[in-house]
Amino acid sequence: MEVFTAAEQGGHERILFAQDGDSGLKAIIAVHSTVLGPALGGTRFYPYACEEDALADALRLSRAMTRKNAAAGLDFGGGKAVIMGDPHTLKSERLLRAYGRAIESLGGAYVTAEDVGTTIADMEMIARETGYVTGAAHDSGGSGDPSPVTARGLMAAMRGAARSLWGSPDLSGRHVAIQGVGKVGGAFARLLAEVGACLTIADVNEEAVKGLASELGATIASPDRVHATECDVFAPCALGGALNPETVPELRCAAVLGSANNQLASDDLAADLAARDILYVPDFIVNAGGVINLAEEVGREYRLERANRRVDGIEATVIELLARARETGVTPLDEAIARADRRIREVGGLHARVARSPHTGSGAR
Ligand code: NAD
Repeated sequence: MEVFTAAEQGGHERILFAQDGDSGLKAIIAVHSTVLGPALGGTRFYPYACEEDALADALRLSRAMTRKNAAAGLDFGGGKAVIMGDPHTLKSERLLRAYGRAIESLGGAYVTAEDVGTTIADMEMIARETGYVTGAAHDSGGSGDPSPVTARGLMAAMRGAARSLWGSPDLSGRHVAIQGVGKVGGAFARLLAEVGACLTIADVNEEAVKGLASELGATIASPDRVHATECDVFAPCALGGALNPETVPELRCAAVLGSANNQLASDDLAADLAARDILYVPDFIVNAGGVINLAEEVGREYRLERANRRVDGIEATVIELLARARETGVTPLDEAIARADRRIREVGGLHARVARSPHTGSGAR
C-alpha cells in the first residue's frame, strides 16, 4: 500500500507509526480528522497478519470514527489506533507505557479508549504516560466499560426503528437474531429478554452461547447461518463485514441493527438492502452509545445518569434519520453520512476561529 496515497484518498490528517524494540511495540495511530475536536477512538490490539492489514484497519476504523462522532453531535474528530500482535502474549507494562508516550507525542490530536484486545486496566496503564486517554474505571472517575452503555444505545435504536417499521416502540414478541454475544451482544440479549423479545443467538464461543441461551430461553443458531434466520431484526454484534454479497441475499429479516463496526463490506450494499426492503440502520448511529459515554468523562466529572440520558437520545436520532431518509428518497446510510458531513461543515469551522484549551478539558485525570 502506498501510505501517502491511502491517507490522501481517505482524507486522513496524519498517521503515526510508533515502535519500541524492547517491548515489541508496533503501533499505528491514524488521526482521520480533528475538524470537530481531538480525534477520539479506541486502541485495537490484534494479531494482524501483516503491516498492510494493520494500516488498512487503522485507516478504515479512524474514518468511521469521524462519521460516528460527528453524527452523534460530539465535539470530537475521528481517530483509531492499532497495536500489532497477540494481546495475550505481547502485552506488558513497558509496551503500554511506550504506547502512552506515542499518544502523548501527538499533543492531544488523538484521545484513546479501549477497543478489541484492550481493557480498562490497559487504559489506566497508558494514563501513567499521557492524559489523552478515556475509559478508566468508575472508581477512578472514568466512564468504565462502555459495553453496557452501548447495549443501552442499541435498545434505544431498536425502539426508534420499531416505531418507524411497526408504528410502536414495543419490542415484546419481536424476534431478534444476534450474531456475537460478547460484551455488547450479551448485554443487548439480556435487555431484549427483559422486554419480552424472542431471541436466536450465535457465537463462535460455544460455551458462552450455551450458557446465555439457557439463562434467557434463547434458540441457538450456527455462527455462519444466523444471518439467514427468519426474524424481525438481525443484529450483527461480532466483527465487521457481516453484510456482504453472500449474506445480504440470504437475509430473512425486516431490519438489520447491531453493534458491530463496519457491518457493510462495502457501502453500496446499503442500496441492495433497500432494494430487498430491509431496513438497515447504520452501525455508526446505532453503536454510538460507547463513544457518547466516553465523551461524558472528558473535561468534566463523569455522571452515569447524564451519559444514559444522552445515549437514550439515539432513539430520537434514529426516528429523525429514518424519516428524513424516507422524505428525501435516500438510504438511511446516505442520510447518516449526510448528517455527519452537515455537522462537520456547520460546526467544524469554529475551531479555526475560537481558541480552545490545548487539552479540551482533557481526558487527563
Ligand atoms: P466482544 O469481543 O466482547 O464480543 C464479540 C463476540 O463475537 C465474541 O463473543 C466472539 O466470540 C463473537 N464472534 C466472533 N466472531 C464471530 C462469528 N463469526 N460469529 C459469531 N460470533 C462471533 O466485543 P464487543 O465489545 O461485544 O464488541 C462487539 C462489536 O461491537 C465489535 O465489532 C465492536 O467493534 C463493536 N462495538 C463495541 C462497542 C463497545 O462498547 N464494546 C462500542 C461500539 C462498537
